[in-house]
Amino acid sequence: MPGRILSGNAIRDQIYAELSSEISALASAGIRPGLAAVLVGDNPASKVYVKSKIAACEKLGLASIQIASPATITTSELLAIVDDLNRRDDVDGILVQLPLPSQVDAKKILEAVDPAKDVDGFHPLNVGYLVAGRPTLVPCTPAGVMELLRRSSIPLDGANAVVVGRSDIVGKPMALLLVHANATVTICHSKTRELPATVRRADLVVAAMGRPATISGDYIRPGATVVDVGINRVTDPLQAENFFANFPERLAEFRAKGTALVGDVHPDVAKIAGALTPVPGGVGPLTIAMLMSNTVKAARLRRGSRTPTAVAVQR
Ligand code: NAP
Repeated sequence: MPGRILSGNAIRDQIYAELSSEISALASAGIRPGLAAVLVGDNPASKVYVKSKIAACEKLGLASIQIASPATITTSELLAIVDDLNRRDDVDGILVQLPLPSQVDAKKILEAVDPAKDVDGFHPLNVGYLVAGRPTLVPCTPAGVMELLRRSSIPLDGANAVVVGRSDIVGKPMALLLVHANATVTICHSKTRELPATVRRADLVVAAMGRPATISGDYIRPGATVVDVGINRVTDPLQAENFFANFPERLAEFRAKGTALVGDVHPDVAKIAGALTPVPGGVGPLTIAMLMSNTVKAARLRRGSRTPTAVAVQR
């Protein structure tokens, strides 16, 4: 029997409805949360990401500022932009879209963002708070996965969770959040031995590897919950035939467009998992929802300490 589909779109809509109440409460106190997005260069994927983040701000009535800089920018020029945004009272959240060009010292830039405005949760101070289990601004993708699991009533207490991937933005914070939620967590990476057998022990699998359709049915214990963070663009027809052999509609769509998105989990896992997130429409929408949530939270903490909180989002 096919597993339950955990729709990120539906949960994003719930989160937006709750955020709207909080945004109205802040508006009555004369506060309009604002997000500044810094885009460096012409990377097409980065442009799309920034555009969808700005569109989300507009949908929710948040203020947004987009700062576009040339790909030739130096570290000190970018530091000056961040410094200016740190000082602006109408800016509650600052996001510097990654990746940055190689001549820019990305660590220096991320460390220059005021931790109180660090809505991506990448500043070492916020990372430290996350390790210590103290309230903080949490990286958006793993925070979105936690919302999805909580709102889908997936039990975590004592569960065996396997996170595949150890990046600073997804895998590591994901593992920390699951530990704080009382799961027993294993972190896997490219040097892990016997990956399929390790993943097969999991009640919950979070795949964040950036490797298309790699987690196949043999990795999954029947009935396990599978969260697919991966977003990979497929253009090779042979790959598409393999990935979508049992999904004629998706194959037809690929043939029509010449491209499709696939996660790190093979689509056939749907037959084995107890519950799983689709790609697209799973974790992706929640990443942006949590960015909005972090921006509202940053505004409330920095400017609106006297306003009531109306959201159920645990932040
Ligand atoms: P990343 O920085 O490239 O990290 C990938 C991780 O996967 C690394 O830790 C790597 O191990 C591990 N890995 C790679 N190949 C592996 C293999 N064959 N077996 C086991 N582990 C392997 O990627 P990321 O930024 O975390 O992103 C991961 C995926 O999530 C990408 O597809 C990305 O597009 C997607 N993503 C989606 C969202 C969203 O909103 N849905 C947000 C962010 C990222 P090593 O450390 O040993 O190299």
